[in-house]
Formats: sequence, C-alpha cells, structure tokens
Amino acid sequence: MQTILIVEDELAIADSIAYALRTDGFHPRHVSFGGAALEAMRAGGADAPALVVLDVGLPDMNGFEVCRQLRQFSNVPVIFLTARSEEIDRIVGLEIGADDYVTKPFSPRELVARVRVVLRRLAPPPVAAASAHFELRAAEARIRFRGQPLELTRYEYLLLKTLLEHPAHVLSRAQLMDRVWDGARDTLERTVDAHVKSLRAKLRAVDPALDPIQTHRGMGYSLVAA
Ligand code: CA
Repeated sequence: MQTILIVEDELAIADSIAYALRTDGFHPRHVSFGGAALEAMRAGGADAPALVVLDVGLPDMNGFEVCRQLRQFSNVPVIFLTARSEEIDRIVGLEIGADDYVTKPFSPRELVARVRVVLRRLAPPPVAAASAHFELRAAEARIRFRGQPLELTRYEYLLLKTLLEHPAHVLSRAQLMDRVWDGARDTLERTVDAHVKSLRAKLRAVDPALDPIQTHRGMGYSLVAA
C-alpha cells in the first residue's frame, strides 16, 4: 500500500482527501505544517510517502518553499493544492518541481485520480527500475536513452540489452562475448571493448553528463544502477 503525505492545515479538507485516498487503497498520512512535511520526508523508512499533496498556503512556510527544500533531497512527486490563479502561474511558469496541481475547491475523488495518473506516469518500466535512463523495446529491437531512440548496430544493441538485463552486475568480456556474439567464433575480447567504446560515444552524444557503463578493470563491464 502506497503512502501519500497530505500537507494541509485545513482539517476538513485534509480529512476529505484522506478519506478518498483510503477508499482508493492508499495509506494517507497528514501533517499541517511545512516543517513537519519536510521532517516526514527526511525520515524515510518503510512507509515513506510515494507522493506529496501539498497545500500552497501553510501556517509556517508556503508550499513553494516546502517544495524547494524538498527538491534538495527528494524527487518525490508533488501535487499542489492551490486557491488562487496567481499561484497556478507560479506552479506552471517557474520550474519548482511540481508534477500537477488541483485548484480549490476540488473533488477529493478528482484529486485521487490525479494521484494515480502521476504515480503511473512516474512508475518506471521493469528494466528501467535499475537504470532509469533507458527504455528497452525488445519487440522493436530498439533502446531509448533519456527519451531519445539510439541508432545502434546489431552488436551494440545486443551488448546494451545484455547489460540492461543485468543491472549493476559486472559481466566479464567472456560472458558478454558468449551472450552477444553468439556463434561468432573468432570474437576477441578487444571486440567487446571496441563496441563498448562506440556505445559510450553514442550515449555521450545524447547526454555528456552521464556515463552509465562502468568499466571494472580486469573484470568487465556493468551498467551503473541509478
Ligand atoms: Ca491552507
């Protein structure tokens, strides 16, 4: 059961949201202050919130400030509750890291529907769980990296697919040759290195800041779990 943190100082509103969440199979937690929300998020643990419903108007600090501080240590999705149109402009216009917003007055059921949409949108596909930047489309023999389709040769594709299927596992050159160059008898270990090199160049072309393939000297390669 996923925990949803409600940050709202109006108890009647908080109660109605909590009720709707519970009815829909979520586990709601409620705090009335921004500071308490940040504390709850820092604490983490087994029932760490999967999403935060955050009112903009709070007694101790406004929701924007809560979100700004939250973003320094957490990527938890945030849905803002807002009462005024100028607040919407801030949510939409400034990139404060909100995933959605709902304007007051709202129906709690509608809010819960938004919660579901945001959680579903952010749920990584199975392979991407360990390597969030990739999307493997095995049926099409294609891999996307940070949303962009990669132009890969057959062996580059098979090499990256093999690494993706074993996230955070070090695969030796021999293992990679065995799995990727199946049937190619005269493959050399340096063939693996050459393909890793060209693969890295293609990934760097998409995002120079990321180097998802890790070299383990004398052992092999792995995909960084991130
Ligand atoms: Ca309020």
